[in-house]
Amino acid sequence: MEKRNIIIFTDSGDTLIDEKSEIRKEDYGVVYEAEFIPGAKETLLELKNRGYQIALVADGLKESFDRIYAGHHLEDVFDARAISEIVGEEKPSPAMFETAMRKLGLEESDKKRILMVGNNIKRDIVGANRFGIHSVLLSWSPRYCMIPETAEETPEYQISRPEKLLEVIEKLEESERK
Ligand SMILES: [Mg+2]
Repeated sequence: MEKRNIIIFTDSGDTLIDEKSEIRKEDYGVVYEAEFIPGAKETLLELKNRGYQIALVADGLKESFDRIYAGHHLEDVFDARAISEIVGEEKPSPAMFETAMRKLGLEESDKKRILMVGNNIKRDIVGANRFGIHSVLLSWSPRYCMIPETAEETPEYQISRPEKLLEVIEKLEESERK
């Protein structure tokens, strides 16, 4: 398989999973099941097929993510997971990104190869920009404001549908090869 340079860090809620579809037994408790947003599962599997390393970098409870992805038979889709309940901090904390890097055996010099995709400007985009990795805002969900107010809230790339991530990654692969 072709060697891949880019490494993908992804958020879960409203980036892969449709938060509107989440089923909980109590408010703010564990999510028992949830559906993918249109195109997200296909994109995730396509990236996996192409040989990309993918880490989940998500705020929430470990049991929620275990249940959601096992419910789609995708418990092994991520090469590493940084989950806020386990890390003890939430995005934009660098601890979340550092955890994913450590679990993938990455070093400081690998940061330029990492791309964070998420739907939350204040958590995903600020977190990635401050940490010094590439950032992609997926603006599919209307849940949060998608208009950056500061330079560090400004994503390097913005996409409206998950499938568009493939084009961003191809662009980054191209510039890495130069
Ligand atoms: Mg999210």
